Amino acid sequence: MSQALTLVLGTHNKKKRLELERLLQPYPVALKTLEDFPEALEVEETGDTFAANAILKAAEQAVHLGHWVLGEDSGLSVAGLDGAPGVYSARFSGLQATDETNNALLLEKLKGQPQQGRQAWYTCNMALSDPAGSIVIQTEANCRGQILEEPRGTTGFGYDPLFEIPEYHLTFAQLGDSVKSILSHRARAHRIFMRQFSHFFNNCKQ
Ligand code: IMP
Repeated sequence: MSQALTLVLGTHNKKKRLELERLLQPYPVALKTLEDFPEALEVEETGDTFAANAILKAAEQAVHLGHWVLGEDSGLSVAGLDGAPGVYSARFSGLQATDETNNALLLEKLKGQPQQGRQAWYTCNMALSDPAGSIVIQTEANCRGQILEEPRGTTGFGYDPLFEIPEYHLTFAQLGDSVKSILSHRARAHRIFMRQFSHFFNNCKQ
């Protein structure tokens, strides 16, 4: 593989692109996002696991665009809610959901739950598809925490103001991006992904 490999990140999110761009710096990879492809599909997340959705986002888009695509799916699971919101994290409080309405619903559903039921974990699953739709790498990582009874902190997004990292007694929204970029489910999944990508890339060169 002597020419730069075009790798499309299956998202419109610029922040996610910057995170991965840093990790891919040692490799001759031209990283793009769906912003670079107006013809990109709006892939429906119909899977009932993070893994299934990551595969859909990678494989369907890869075949459509004719490029390598990295699909990612993530979300929050809560012990006392049997793993909900899970794959429905973004739309927990309905189609018009916002971070505020999702957090409010989460607090309502957890009213009266003992601490054990408030144990929670973020999951991030990443799947790399070749242009023919075959998945060549798939990784998953978690980050464990506890859902508080009221929000704390102002950084991050989604459920971060309610998600406390027990070791720090602070939420992700209080800890900020620099800590999150080391501890988060996404950061952990990226690290595992990069190890596998490095093997894969070196084998392709031979
Ligand atoms: P996506 O896979 O990036 O689309 O994320 C799905 C949903 O999971 C988001 O809309 C958030 O509600 C939740 N989520 C995923 N990762 C995080 C995170 O790092 N912090 C807070 N919420 C998250």
